[in-house]
Amino acid sequence: MNFHIITIFPTIFDSYFSESIIKRAQDNKKIKIKIYNLRDWTTDKHKTVDDTPYGGGAGMVMKVDVLYRAIHEISKKTKNKKQINTKSQIQNTKIILLSAKGKTWTQPMARDYSKLDDIILICGRYEGVDERILNFVDEEISIGDYVLTGGEIPAMAIVDSITRLLPGVLGNPESLKEESFSEKIGNRQSAIGNRLEYPQYTRPEIFIDEKGKKYNVPDVLKSGNHAEIEKWKEKHKKRK
Ligand code: SAM
Repeated sequence: MNFHIITIFPTIFDSYFSESIIKRAQDNKKIKIKIYNLRDWTTDKHKTVDDTPYGGGAGMVMKVDVLYRAIHEISKKTKNKKQINTKSQIQNTKIILLSAKGKTWTQPMARDYSKLDDIILICGRYEGVDERILNFVDEEISIGDYVLTGGEIPAMAIVDSITRLLPGVLGNPESLKEESFSEKIGNRQSAIGNRLEYPQYTRPEIFIDEKGKKYNVPDVLKSGNHAEIEKWKEKHKKRK
């Protein structure tokens, strides 16, 4: 799976993508992440990527022509040499615009997208992106109902949530089975997106805070009675 990220802050990604599971996934050739500096597709000497909004209003808007050139060129580098403004004709590549007003990203979407060959992620900045770019993207995606400064954190969230689902990426694939929003619990199918993980505990058995108050691990989890433990886990799989 290839991720192509378009941004005006390419170094933002260095730290997160060079640690832990995402680093290992790249080292093991499960994923490739390419970061592109949008300014490389500007044509003026100031490398301008934004301009004032038509109709007035606060802030600046990212220019459609610069973004178009970037996604046009990057699309040609994808495995299927996707042609833009053909929407989803080639299903194995998707172009995503990160946007607070987009469709909310979910675990079932991460699972679906994990089957693609290439994903192009466009990180907005300023007040957002010229709306005409929507003619050339497949999806406008939000990671939640709040406004961030830019699309870089959403892009990292999408890369991360997809990568950990890819075969061979997690050390123990069992971890995926009972996770929150997982589709299968044991051998049973559950409602997609409804299922949350049960609470987890580890040593010490009794934690004592600075006021001397004790916090115990539920007795049932120490009982060794697997049937009772399973019953307890089922009962506690719920949203807080
Ligand atoms: N004016 C926009 C609005 O009110 O929706 C917010 C623009 S925001 C400051 C700049 C960029 O951050 C957006 O273009 C988008 O790429 C990204 N962004 C902000 N919040 C986001 C979210 N919840 N999900 C995905 N992208 C987001």
